[in-house]
Amino acid sequence: MATANADKKWERCLEIIKCNVKEQEYQTWFQPVEFVAFDTEAKELTLRVPTNFFFEMLDGQFKPLMYNVVWRVFSKGVSIIYRIQTDSNSDIDIELEGPSDGVRQQRMSKDKVFKQPVRRPAEDDLDSQLNPDYRFENFIEGESNKLPRSVGKSIAENPKQSTFNPLFIYGSSGVGKTHLVNAIGLLAKELHPEKRVLYVTAHQFMVQFTDSRRDNNFNSFIHFYQTIDLLIIDDIQELSGAKATQEAFFHIFNHLKMNGKQIVLTSDREPASMQGMEERLLTRFKWGLMTELEKPNQDLCRKILVNKMRRDGLSIPEDVIDYIAANVNESVRDLEGIVNSLMAFSVVYNRDIDLALAEQIVRRTIKYQAKPATLEKIIEQACEQWSISQEDVFSKSRKANIVLVRQVVMYLAQKHTKMTTSKIGLHIGNRNHATVLHSINQVKDRMLTDKDFAKAIGEVEKRMKES
Ligand code: ADP
Ligand code: MG
Repeated sequence: MATANADKKWERCLEIIKCNVKEQEYQTWFQPVEFVAFDTEAKELTLRVPTNFFFEMLDGQFKPLMYNVVWRVFSKGVSIIYRIQTDSNSDIDIELEGPSDGVRQQRMSKDKVFKQPVRRPAEDDLDSQLNPDYRFENFIEGESNKLPRSVGKSIAENPKQSTFNPLFIYGSSGVGKTHLVNAIGLLAKELHPEKRVLYVTAHQFMVQFTDSRRDNNFNSFIHFYQTIDLLIIDDIQELSGAKATQEAFFHIFNHLKMNGKQIVLTSDREPASMQGMEERLLTRFKWGLMTELEKPNQDLCRKILVNKMRRDGLSIPEDVIDYIAANVNESVRDLEGIVNSLMAFSVVYNRDIDLALAEQIVRRTIKYQAKPATLEKIIEQACEQWSISQEDVFSKSRKANIVLVRQVVMYLAQKHTKMTTSKIGLHIGNRNHATVLHSINQVKDRMLTDKDFAKAIGEVEKRMKES
């Protein structure tokens, strides 16, 4: 059968489908489906769908209807192949068997890495690296974290379900991302002891990757990650600008996803505002569920305080709790810091915790918060650290120490301010976006191998905050 003819047949299928589903369902799920080809010999109809989620909907909700119609219009026994169009480099074909047979076969095109069988190592050789203190039981629920918490729990309970894959949790510092993903890992392990669960920070991942390349161990590195059932990577934004590491992660991601393994990622920003991350990765981050861990609202702060008091055997008067909950709403980490300071003060000075003391401590914390990093502060502190003048940063000089400080400034500006890389470039001697990304990479690479350099940057960061 000629494809042109088959094309018409698919249109006929759509007409029938349209009569059998709600108008809105038709528009949402079927209108975007594109006919690709029909192979008469193989009896295969290939359709293109925009995302994995479409495939799951068509496969899950509409599978009987699809087969019914396709078999009626084309011929009985035709199989449907969905091609998920993510980007030009990597089409993924997924073949579904007939409606009577629920078994799904998955087939990857192009990339050979995925075709290699992966042998599972013995179960007990894996250190999950999970923090045993970060459990669901002590992750207090409130309005601001209800959704991520419940999705996280459902993933831990049923890591095979694939709708929330990857689970992408984002939110600012101290809102509980690390706690939540550890809780997911711990619960998954508890309920499914046979599963290989791994928690790593993106930074660790990058270091392992760099080491593996240096030691010619790259294949073992990839292989190791391909054996994981639940992979948790914390602070994925740290891979920004690290091109080679992103490439490795891309392979691992595809392999795990295609094999129904769960991926959980956290980030301090949403994919849309992530600079220096490859487009195809950003696309993949959005495949599953993106959910924000919001800053704790007053109600959650209250609950966390009460819980902490109970746990630590503290007694904090009601008005003090109200005051803290009303005034600290940036992060749970701050909240904990304030309670610890209150406790320390009351012990050291043998003084009851009262409103006056709380006000004093909260004011100090909030004042500290109210000073966000600015480019000026970064430049000031970086120049001091390496003893160069501030004008040099803006100059065209190629002297090694000046170039270094300039790169450090770019790195810190991206990390601590909300400036885009283009804007950073514009402010620092009118350099373009690519130069900025390259500089940031250079700093990241050097930090991995040069401890003194990493330490010096840490000092600049510390002073930036204090100044
Ligand atoms: P993030 O990774 O988002 O920067 P963390 O997960 O490190 O934040 O959380 C900071 C601190 O706040 C941790 O000590 C964590 O246990 C605590 N925390 C955050 N959210 C909650 C919560 N809902 N209930 C109890 N403790 C929380
Ligand atoms: Mg964290």
